[in-house]
Amino acid sequence: MRKKIVAGNWKMNKDLAETGELIAEIKRSFENLPEAEIIISPTFTNLYYAFEELKGLDIKVAAQNMHQAESGAFTGEISAGMLKSIGVDTVILGHSERRAYFGENDELLAKKVNTALKHDMTVIFCFGEELQDRKNNTHFSLVESQLKNGLFHITEADWKNIVLAYEPVWAIGTGETASPEQAQEMHAFIRETIRKTYNQEIADEVSILYGGSVKPNNAEEIFAKPDVDGGLIGGASLDAQSFAAIANAI
Ligand code: 13P
Repeated sequence: MRKKIVAGNWKMNKDLAETGELIAEIKRSFENLPEAEIIISPTFTNLYYAFEELKGLDIKVAAQNMHQAESGAFTGEISAGMLKSIGVDTVILGHSERRAYFGENDELLAKKVNTALKHDMTVIFCFGEELQDRKNNTHFSLVESQLKNGLFHITEADWKNIVLAYEPVWAIGTGETASPEQAQEMHAFIRETIRKTYNQEIADEVSILYGGSVKPNNAEEIFAKPDVDGGLIGGASLDAQSFAAIANAI
């Protein structure tokens, strides 16, 4: 059975004090943990604090990015080993903001994926088309190429450490979500692409999250779709009650 997952990507929000407040509220709001695995992803400076605060609770902590090298002269960067050393074993890779603003392409992401897997980390691999791709009706081929070039070099055994997050760029932070039907259509396509490239078992087992303006009022109908296994939540994850409401919609 594949896992249901609701992950909060805090992006570049919340300083240390605010992180403390939000985690305290999350602890209160998640007194009864939902069926889904819950993950939060604060910024690097607050990861260790978040990890320590959530120790013993069933809420995981993920990094939003990492560098592909083991160590060395890469000023400003963070390695997989550094994350592992503070207990963080999950990392978001390939977020559209990393792709758009920091020039991360499929080739680079393939290297980051390799490094994360080498460290036995779980990768939340993000991808998704821009509005123009959808208008040109090239969204399926674009998503397929992002998967092929960034991820499909991994072995069958590696898939146990992979979570996919389909995030159409036009729906991120815009208040415009993919309709449940659009999400389902793409998630089914992704699963079929994995089946063709790997096998049925891997396609059935991998969790595919939807991301892009998921809110308490639309989560339930999106999560109800058979190939949607949860969500990667941006803005709404910065409010504990909204995040909990979304998680409980699973
Ligand atoms: P929003 O939920 O704010 O649209 O962000 C989605 C996202 O980018 C999660 O990674």
